[in-house]
Amino acid sequence: MVGMASALKPTGSTAAWRRIRIAILRRDGYRCQMMHGDGRICGQPATDVDHIVRREHGGTDAPGNLRAACTRCNRGWRRTQRSVTRTVP
Ligand SMILES: [Zn+2]
Repeated sequence: MVGMASALKPTGSTAAWRRIRIAILRRDGYRCQMMHGDGRICGQPATDVDHIVRREHGGTDAPGNLRAACTRCNRGWRRTQRSVTRTVP
């Protein structure tokens, strides 16, 4: 009963999230798995973990929905997506 409530808490600085983060970074070899517009994997040393499907879109903290990301990609992701949706002739 106690575990249920803490599992529903949003991620951020909880001990559980910190553990998941390290597990994902290890799985991905501490390399950024974000894909650039040209289809190449970034491959830079990763310090962050990115949700492939964002939590507000129903994404979970399951390993399949997480990937290692470098600070640059994690920050630049939104900008990249905007420029992609803006490709109007
Ligand atoms: Zn990166």
